[in-house]
Amino acid sequence: MPDNRPDTSPETGPDTGPDNGPDNGPIPPLTRHLLDRIAQDGPLRLSDYMADCLLHPRYGYYTTRDPLGAAGDFTTAPEISQMFGELIGLSLAQSWLDQGAPSPFTLAELGPGRGTLMADILRATRGVPGFHAAMTLLLVEVSPTLRRAQKATLKGQDVAWRDRLGDMPDAPLFLVANEFFDALPIRQFVRADDILWQERRVTAQGTTLTLGLTGAAPEPALAHRLGDTKPGDIVETCPAASAIAAQIGDHIARHGGAALIVDYGDWRSQGDTLQALRNHAYADPLADPGQSDLTAHVDFEDIATAAAPACHSLLTPQGVFLERLGITARAQALAARLTDDALSAHVAAHRRLTHPQEMGTLFKTLALYPKGHRPPPGLEPAKHDSA
Ligand code: SAH
Repeated sequence: MPDNRPDTSPETGPDTGPDNGPDNGPIPPLTRHLLDRIAQDGPLRLSDYMADCLLHPRYGYYTTRDPLGAAGDFTTAPEISQMFGELIGLSLAQSWLDQGAPSPFTLAELGPGRGTLMADILRATRGVPGFHAAMTLLLVEVSPTLRRAQKATLKGQDVAWRDRLGDMPDAPLFLVANEFFDALPIRQFVRADDILWQERRVTAQGTTLTLGLTGAAPEPALAHRLGDTKPGDIVETCPAASAIAAQIGDHIARHGGAALIVDYGDWRSQGDTLQALRNHAYADPLADPGQSDLTAHVDFEDIATAAAPACHSLLTPQGVFLERLGITARAQALAARLTDDALSAHVAAHRRLTHPQEMGTLFKTLALYPKGHRPPPGLEPAKHDSA
């Protein structure tokens, strides 16, 4: 790989002076740590910056808090309504039945948050004969705070926790990941000309973090993006997402199973999608490191490509996926037991999960599954594997 250490030319931002934080207060420890890294090693890849902001063992965003819900920074589908997890659970359980009800199998979740999605999956699948008896539960969670929340939510369940997927038992893998891949660290490249790219890196002006560009260098991994970009365009890569997808795909192709991946993003990501959320509002991703949730849109094409030889479904809007699984009938059944505010909240939750102007279109679902099988209910095979 060429030495493309940044020339540190800033893209934006004035110099705010050497000694103070941006608001003239003391410099917070994570900012100090990042400034030290930059001073020692040069400007940071965005992926290194994001990894420190989210997962630094002492000061990382996920390490130090439960970010979910009204009092947190963002709300996710399982926190909006139990219907989301119930339908995901039934889709996975039907896929398990379609594959001959293998026993044992691994039921895994990546980034389980408060454990709500898994609790809803388990409740909804209680009546599927043999499913619970055959499953081994595996949760991949790096945050000690959220692991504690998951333990409380899933009390009484036999669960194994891991920091990363790692080696898995030689058994079919049924896996769900909701809003997990968007939290994985990305890199960003600006197309310079017909061959070369510059990487966006985090640098410092005084004690203010700002973005700079590396010198232009070839990026063979971006060769497939020369056709749909022009000089000046930004594309993102997510090496961790590709690696995890490759592991899941390889496992499913060899041992069977299925993965449901739900997240915001598109078939191919385009432009700068790095965003920071704090108190349910957008924030500057470089301001107050570790205090806001940093995410980027998921590039589902990268995931599907990395997961080969497993097959992948068509990428399907969340609203369509949930409607196909019968969310309206389920919503009506639950509504029959509700009145007043609880009923209004339930109706609003259904709309929020499915309506195109809410989460229905922005969020998408992709399934990975073995050759010779159909994707889990709610999803259609991509054309190339429909033969
Ligand atoms: N799936 C949950 C939570 C989404 S928030 C829900 O839908 O409510 C993202 C989750 O992924 C959190 O649990 C966070 O701690 C976890 N996470 C983020 N990055 C991770 C990583 N690199 N490895 C393991 N877990 C991670």
